[in-house]
Amino acid sequence: MSAQSLVRARPVAALVLTLLVSSGASAQSYSRPVACEDCINYWYHVDHGDQTDYTCGSETYPGHTGTDYSLRGGNSAIDDGNEVVAAAAGVVTTASDGSFDRCTMCGGPDCGVNTPGGGFANHVIVDHGTHRTIYGHMRNGSVTVTVGDSVECGQVLGHIASSGCSSGAHLHFEPRSSGPGYGEALDPYEGDCSPTETSLWVEQGPYLGMPGPACEAVEPECPPDLGAIWTCSADGTTRQRCIDGIDSTESCEWGCASMQANVDSECLLPPDDDGDGARVDTDCDDANADVHPGALELCGDAIDQDCNGFDSACEMPVLGSGGSSGGGGSGGSTSGSGGASDSSGGTSGAAATGGADPAQGSGGVSGGPGGTGEQAGCQCAWHEPPSRAAWALPACLLGLLWLTRARRQGRPELE
Ligand SMILES: [Zn+2]
Repeated sequence: MSAQSLVRARPVAALVLTLLVSSGASAQSYSRPVACEDCINYWYHVDHGDQTDYTCGSETYPGHTGTDYSLRGGNSAIDDGNEVVAAAAGVVTTASDGSFDRCTMCGGPDCGVNTPGGGFANHVIVDHGTHRTIYGHMRNGSVTVTVGDSVECGQVLGHIASSGCSSGAHLHFEPRSSGPGYGEALDPYEGDCSPTETSLWVEQGPYLGMPGPACEAVEPECPPDLGAIWTCSADGTTRQRCIDGIDSTESCEWGCASMQANVDSECLLPPDDDGDGARVDTDCDDANADVHPGALELCGDAIDQDCNGFDSACEMPVLGSGGSSGGGGSGGSTSGSGGASDSSGGTSGAAATGGADPAQGSGGVSGGPGGTGEQAGCQCAWHEPPSRAAWALPACLLGLLWLTRARRQGRPELE
C-alpha cells in the first residue's frame, strides 16, 4: 500500500516541479560564463572519444567532461580577480571554498581530488531547472554565493584560479543533465561530433573563441488556458488573468463570481444582509438595520447603534422631561440641541409615546422609556426605574376608579 501511495505521489511532485520551472526558470540558454572580454586564451573542450571535440577537432584531452577556459597569464593572473559569472539564472546547490588555489598539477594533499571540494575544489553548482552546471577550480576566498541562493544570469560566483585537480588557472564549465545524482555531462556546444543537437548557448561563438555575453531574454509565461480575462479560481477565493505573459492573481475575500462567458469575473462585495446600506465589513451588526455606521446612537441602552465601538453614556437622565415635552410623539426636543436627532422621528416618536405622562390619561402602562432627551451626536433614552413603572398601572386604575365614582356623583371634575 505504501508503495502504491508513493507511486501516486510522484505525478503531483512532477507537476509542482513543472510549474516552478515554467514560472521563471525556463530560460536556460547560456551566456558567457566569465565576465572578461579577452582574458581567456585557450580552450579544452568535452572529449567525445578518441580525443575528439565537438567540431571533430582535438582541442580536448582524454575523458574530459567539461569545457576549460584557460586564463591568459596562467596562475600569475589569478590575483587580477577575473570573474566567473552564472551563465543562466538558477539556484545554488553546492558552494565550496577554502582550498589552495595555485595548483600546477593534479595530485598531493592540496591539489588532488581530496580537497574539501573534491577535484573541483573551490566550486559552485547552479541548478538551472532543466539542467545544472558546475563552475570549478575557483580562487580561494572568492566564492560569493551559498547553497540556496537564487542567482541571476551574469551574477558573479567567484574568480578564476587553479584549485583542486588542476594544472593551471582556468574555469572548468560543465553542464549536466538534471537526472539523479549529478546527472550526465552535456557538451554545451553543437557541432558535427557533438551529440548536442541544439547549442546550449544563446550565441555559441567561434571555435576557440568565446560565447556571446548576452543572457537569454526571459519570456514571462502564464499557466496554460489562462487568458486576458479575469477568471475565478476553482475554489472561488481568487481571480486570475494573463496579459503579455504576466500572470496576475487577485484574492477575493468575499468570493469570486463569473457573470457570463468572456467577461471579467468579479470579486464579490461584502454582503449587506440587513439591507441598511452598510456591508458586513463595516456593519457591526449586519442582522439589524437600525445598527450601522452613521445610525442614530441611543445612549445608555447597551447597544452600539452607530458602530463606533461603544454605547454612549447618557448624561442627562432628567426624569419627567419626556412628560413635559413629549406629548403627541413630537420626538422630545426639550433641549432643542440636535438637528441630527430630528431626522430620527420614528425612533424618538416611539419613545415619546411610551413615555407619555400619566396625567394625559394614557398612563405609563407600557413601562417603556420614561422620556427622551438629546445630547450632541446622540439621543438619550432611558428607562424609568422599575418601581415607578410597576406603580404606574395601579395608579392609573385607581385614578379611573376615582373618576368613575366622581362622575357617578355628578361632580364636574376634570372638565
Ligand atoms: Zn576541466
